[in-house]
Amino acid sequence: MLITHYLPRLSIPICQSPFFHTQIFFFTKPKFSVSSTLISPPKISHFSSTSTIPSLTHQETTNSEEPHLQISLEKLFVPPDTEISATDVPRILKGSNIVVSKYARDAQISQAEFIKSSVDTESCPSDGAPEFALVGRSNVGKSSLLNSLVRRKKLALTSKKPGKTQCINHFRINDSWYLVDLPGFGYASAPKELRTDWAKFTKDYFLNRSTLVSVFLLIDASIPAKKIDLEYASWLGQNQIPMTLVFTKCDKRKKKKNGGKPPEENVQDFQELIQEFFQAAPPWIMTSSVTNQGRDEILLHMAQLRNYWLKH
Ligand code: GDP
Repeated sequence: MLITHYLPRLSIPICQSPFFHTQIFFFTKPKFSVSSTLISPPKISHFSSTSTIPSLTHQETTNSEEPHLQISLEKLFVPPDTEISATDVPRILKGSNIVVSKYARDAQISQAEFIKSSVDTESCPSDGAPEFALVGRSNVGKSSLLNSLVRRKKLALTSKKPGKTQCINHFRINDSWYLVDLPGFGYASAPKELRTDWAKFTKDYFLNRSTLVSVFLLIDASIPAKKIDLEYASWLGQNQIPMTLVFTKCDKRKKKKNGGKPPEENVQDFQELIQEFFQAAPPWIMTSSVTNQGRDEILLHMAQLRNYWLKH
């Protein structure tokens, strides 16, 4: 399929971007809290973020043990072409700040195949299909997440083969869109030139890949924020590259007495640390490849961004 509509994401200021325009609205609205797992007011108490999501057929992510998150209205990510008001409680994807939009459909993956490894943006597939790029520090859980999204144990191993770790690896999904595995960054034992290589290697891709719908920046939620992750997020924010924060390893709970914070607190801290670089809160989502937490929600988030992108 040839897609000719490209998102004009780099040509307009952040506050006018289709990904952000509906959020500006919230700066003038009163603050109140909503729960991301069960919407609180009694008149709509049957609205749970999992039971009302269209297109979700796999519900194994539901886990009553997962803590409920309280998110204030202005911290929500409202997808483009979606209006919410202070009187209607929005539907929010579980374990995230993402409002469900009318574009939320066709989320499930039925087919996934490795297409190619590219050494630069020009060599990437040119069929115009929309894509989502997964990126994160080495060991953040990127391969595990990719395998969990496509429900294939070893698909992401392709990206780990010698010669491919520093490439842009394209996986075609349902023969209509791409998941893209970008090189991991921040190898502790790698020489400095390689550690900073993400700048040279991937900046060009982020800035020039017209079919890139959103970068998915993976952050380990079981540990406090790392400087390199904050730098990466702020660079994306300052360059107005649409970004979703995917918090990984949310099943890992370190003991408090050892100074460990629960994942929810690390998630909160990370957002406070990057908020100055964003005019509106970027979408974020909590995941675990061990429990499958967040899997269906990521797919639905991708679907609603993708469906909007295809229409505009
Ligand atoms: P990559 O280098 O970013 O591709 O990371 P991997 O997917 O290879 O994972 C690195 C390590 O983290 C492996 O030991 C995984 O088993 C572990 N891991 C990945 N995801 C999770 C998760 O969601 N929860 C936990 N507890 N461990 C994980």
